[in-house]
Amino acid sequence: MTLKPIKTIAKLQSGAPVTIAAIGDSLTCGWMARKGYLDFLKEMLRGKYPDSRFSIIASGVPGDTTDFGLYRVDTDVLHQAPDCVFIQYAINDAGYGFTVAQFRNNIQGIIDKIRKAGDADIVLVTSGHIGDHGENHFAEEYYELAREIGVNFVRFTESSPPNVSLEKNHLTISMVDTLSGKTILLEPDLLVLSAAFLPSKNKPLSHLLKVPLDQNGFFLEAHAKLRPVDFATEGIFLCGAAQWPKSINESVAQATGAAARGARLLAAKKVKFAAICAVLNQDLCMGCGACEMICPFSAIKVRRTESGQKAMVSPSDCKGCGTCGASCPQKAIEMRHFTDTQILKQIYSISEDLFERAV
Ligand code: SF4
Ligand code: SF4
Repeated sequence: MTLKPIKTIAKLQSGAPVTIAAIGDSLTCGWMARKGYLDFLKEMLRGKYPDSRFSIIASGVPGDTTDFGLYRVDTDVLHQAPDCVFIQYAINDAGYGFTVAQFRNNIQGIIDKIRKAGDADIVLVTSGHIGDHGENHFAEEYYELAREIGVNFVRFTESSPPNVSLEKNHLTISMVDTLSGKTILLEPDLLVLSAAFLPSKNKPLSHLLKVPLDQNGFFLEAHAKLRPVDFATEGIFLCGAAQWPKSINESVAQATGAAARGARLLAAKKVKFAAICAVLNQDLCMGCGACEMICPFSAIKVRRTESGQKAMVSPSDCKGCGTCGASCPQKAIEMRHFTDTQILKQIYSISEDLFERAV
């Protein structure tokens, strides 16, 4: 494998015919995208080597993995006698649960077959999210594999992104490496950008279900460690990339967890409510609706009754947060086990204690 396809570049410069074959998955065949990376490669080569005669054979198959690639490289690539082979795999292997060892062996097998068949240059195009989230542990393994086979990574800060310039078909990238503190200048043939993973327009659904979004617009779970597939609102669960950019592996595992949480509720004959819950005295309520408006869990509704507009609490939705009690002008709402009398007595008791200690 070469980091730069030197022989192919020499042929392109000389005007000799060049055959480039690319094997991989949907990123190689350009599935569901206006342009695949090979379209950009073609444009770049046309611009950079206007007198060259090259053809690009895209042998990408959506959802393909390296074990099929190992089989397909004979039939789809090598019989074309290519001068250069682009290999692009990673995401589907990760999704199907291939171990790093399996991935490495298959990639090595594809490389061995190409080398055995001739002297084609080999360009390894890796794809995959190299994240630092704790649950992306397998990404770390792919990162290490990529490092082992010669892929270089340069880390930069958001406040100092790479500076890209294109002058007279000459591409340069400069950036400050956060580890060495030095400015690095690159003159690549091609710049391939990895598209950002953005959340859907989640606001309407989040308002409808009364579930929160994080600062980036992804859905926010009740507790990252203790309730990772639950929302604070009972009976609503989340999984997959609605929560944050996630691999197929993680999404499937989390979906299994969310389904189990939902099944637990559906299978139960009785559901116990939390003991701490808002208790409403309808004789005091004047139906102003302040509690309904302020409840973050939509657990109170004001309804028409024989004695006028009155608020009603749904104990299954109530979280006992106490917000409604604090906002009721009639003092018609108290929390069970945290009544005003109980809380005030605690406060007086602490105050008395502090007063006694002070004197
Ligand atoms: S805030 Fe108090 S008075 Fe107003 S509707 Fe709610 S319970 Fe009734
Ligand atoms: S205690 Fe909190 S969750 Fe329960 S009804 Fe009042 S505001 Fe809503």
